[in-house]
Amino acid sequence: MNAPCYLCGKDAVLDGLCAECYNREHPLIRVSSPLEIIACKRCGSVKIPGGWRTIPLSSSESDELMLRQIDNLLSREVERLTDDVEITYNVENRLDRVLYIRVKAAGRSHTSLEPHTEEYPVEVRLSYVTCDTCGMMSGGYHEAILQIRADGREVTDVEEEEILSIVTQIAEKEYGKDAKAFATESKRTKIGFDFKMGSDHMARLVADELQSRYLADRKENYKLIGQEHGGKGKYRVTILIRLPRWVAGDFVRVAGRPCQVISINRNGMTCQDLTDGQKSTINPKSSKWRTLEFLASQSVKREYMVLSRGYGQSVQLMDAKTFTTVDVVETPLSSEWRSGSRVFLAEIDGVLYPLPESAALESDAV
Ligand SMILES: [Zn+2]
Ligand SMILES: [Zn+2]
Repeated sequence: MNAPCYLCGKDAVLDGLCAECYNREHPLIRVSSPLEIIACKRCGSVKIPGGWRTIPLSSSESDELMLRQIDNLLSREVERLTDDVEITYNVENRLDRVLYIRVKAAGRSHTSLEPHTEEYPVEVRLSYVTCDTCGMMSGGYHEAILQIRADGREVTDVEEEEILSIVTQIAEKEYGKDAKAFATESKRTKIGFDFKMGSDHMARLVADELQSRYLADRKENYKLIGQEHGGKGKYRVTILIRLPRWVAGDFVRVAGRPCQVISINRNGMTCQDLTDGQKSTINPKSSKWRTLEFLASQSVKREYMVLSRGYGQSVQLMDAKTFTTVDVVETPLSSEWRSGSRVFLAEIDGVLYPLPESAALESDAV
């Protein structure tokens, strides 16, 4: 026989209370109303204690930003009073800058009781300001200039796209930690482009990444732009990143031997020797790096058709455009060639060198 619930008189099940009264006395969550969202009208970030939080969006729907801002608000403002609770909400009404939402919590207030749901009407007030980052950005604030150039050539579209995405990734990672982690691209010219960077720190992170990713040359220049309180000089740094003369596919001489650049990345530059087909990887710290010499861009590559494998040490080829025929000396790179196949060669210093098969594939893709 259960004793009666001391609040309502029904059969008590726990601590002298019926399930309903127990749940009411032990709510799943606590949330107050009204709540406030302070958001940046330019970028949608929301103000949180001590800074700003960006709101990542998965779609371009205009409502998504507001819903993600509410998610962020509730994750900070709803207090969970038990571990096992699921929180959802509905937007019930919206007037200009006030939202009426209904927060629902589902869970158990005690392991011996059935799950139940609770609903709380919450008023959310929206206010729009400009966040610190957007304010500095629109005011043209910058502590550093990062210049991207290439040695003796233009920066390629592929490189530009990669560099922009590296800058964006680093800015996203630093945002929240560093309010000045922003970059605006400026001055796109034939020879390269510049970024104005909000923070000196961010400019260095990007420069470090580009320097190792492209085995690039780096120079820094300081310019006095004013004085801080107390008379100390205030400087702005300009970092120049100069990409190498060659890109993957181009031809260089390494320690006196003609080679094709296969790849360039943070592990080094991999080259294939056109005479013996051997691959090797060098980096700016290698002794061979200082012997590097640019020979030709990949545009000197020409397509040929293999007419016949000669007796002995030569292959007969026909130029695919001019139909003239030519004999070349076999190298390890031409050992797999069959009659009738399309192959690529490069003329360097008057000598025709067979190119590895991968070079033919890359060219097909272009
Ligand atoms: Zn009761
Ligand atoms: Zn903003």
